[in-house]
Amino acid sequence: MAQLDVQQKLAILADAAKYDASCASSGSVKRTSRDGKGVGSTDQGMGICHAYAPDGRCISLLKILLTNSCIFDCHYCINRKSSNVRRARFTAAEVVRLTLSFYRRNYIEGLFLSSGIIGSSNYTMEQMVKVARSLREDHDFRGYIHLKTIPDADPELVHQAGLHADRLSINVELPTVAGLTRLAPEKSAARIEGAMGDTKTAILDTGDAKKRFKSAPRFAPAGQSTQMIVGADAATDGDIVTKASTLYDRFGLRRVYYSAFSPIPDASAVLPLQRPPLMREHRLYQSDWLMRFYDYTPADVVAAADATTGMLPLDIDPKLAWALKFRGSFPVDVNRAPREALLRVPGLGVKAVTAILAARRWRRLHLADVARLTVSVAKVRPFLIAEDWRPVALSDRADLRPVVAPKIQQLELFAA
Ligand code: SF4
Repeated sequence: MAQLDVQQKLAILADAAKYDASCASSGSVKRTSRDGKGVGSTDQGMGICHAYAPDGRCISLLKILLTNSCIFDCHYCINRKSSNVRRARFTAAEVVRLTLSFYRRNYIEGLFLSSGIIGSSNYTMEQMVKVARSLREDHDFRGYIHLKTIPDADPELVHQAGLHADRLSINVELPTVAGLTRLAPEKSAARIEGAMGDTKTAILDTGDAKKRFKSAPRFAPAGQSTQMIVGADAATDGDIVTKASTLYDRFGLRRVYYSAFSPIPDASAVLPLQRPPLMREHRLYQSDWLMRFYDYTPADVVAAADATTGMLPLDIDPKLAWALKFRGSFPVDVNRAPREALLRVPGLGVKAVTAILAARRWRRLHLADVARLTVSVAKVRPFLIAEDWRPVALSDRADLRPVVAPKIQQLELFAA
C-alpha cells in the first residue's frame, strides 16, 4: 500500500464511513469543560458546525473508519475484502490527534468511530479502545464518543469500549437470519445478539452501581443502538419493524437505524441493482416512532402495510394508512377520548394530544382549537369529533384516501 498522508487517509476513511447511518448523539450524559478543565462538551454549543454528507446524512461528528480494510466479505459492504477500493488505515494516535484538532476548531461535537476488521476482531477492537482511552485519559476529552463494536470481539474488550464511549453500537445488519447468512456469511445473528445482551447487562449493572456509589464507572451512558440495511434482501417492512421491536424489547436499544441499501461500486452479483426508494427508509422511521411514542404495536404497523407485499405505502404515512384501514376506530371525540385513542388520529402528534388533554379540563374544544395544534386540519377532520364538528359523511367516504393524502407537488428549485 502506498504511503498516504493523514489528509488522504481522511478522504478515504470518512467517505467509507458514510454508509453507516447510526451516528446520532442523543441521550448522553452532560459533560462540559466550562470549568476550564478538560477538552470538549457533550452539549451542543453555539457555533458548532453541522456538516451533511452528499446523501443528506448529518455528520456533525467526526465520522470515520479506523481502516477500510477488512478480512470479512459481506456482500453489501464497499469495504469487503473482495472489493476493489483504495485502502487506508489510521493509527490510533492519528485518530486521537484528528479528533482533538477538529474539536478545537469547532467542526465537530465528537467522534463516531467504526472500522473494518484488520488482523482479527480482537486486534481491531483493541485499537478502537486505544483511541477512546487515550482521548479520555490522556487528553481529558469530554466530547461525545460513539464506538461501533467489532463482530466477535472479546466481551472484555467491548466492556473496555463501554467504559470510555458514550454509546456503543452493534449492527444487526439484516432483519432476518436468512438474509444475514446469505449476505454476510461470516457473521452470526446469535453472536451479534449475544454481544447486545452483554452490553445491555453491563449498562444496567453500571446504572445500578451508579445509583449507590457516585464513584462507580459509567458504561455507555447514551446506551446502545443498531442499524439495519433496508432493501438489500427480500425482507418486508413488516419483517423489519417486527425485528426492530424485538430488539428494543430484548436489548433496551436507544435507537434502531434504518439505512436504505445503496448500490456500491463494484457490487456483488447477489445484490439488487437498484436502491430502494429513500421514502421507504423514511416510512420505517415513522413506524419506529409510532411504536416508541404512540403505543403502536408491531402488529399495528404490519396491519397498516399492504397485506400481499408486506410493504408500507410510500405515498402516505403509516399512521394515516392504519387509520384508513381501521375506520371503525374513528371518529374519536376530542373532548372525551382517552390519550391512546387521540394518539391514533392522523395529524395529531404527542404534543398536540398533551395540549388537548390539558385544555379540555377547562372547556369544550372546537375544531378551530384543534386546528391550532396541527399542521393540516383537513387531515384531522375525518377522524375526530369536536364540540362544533362531526364528520358524518366524510368519514364514510369510499374515496377518503385522496382527500386526506398529501398532495404531491413539484417544489421550485430556486424558490425564495
Ligand atoms: S465486517 Fe463490516 S467492514 Fe467488514 S465487510 Fe462486513 S460490514 Fe464491511
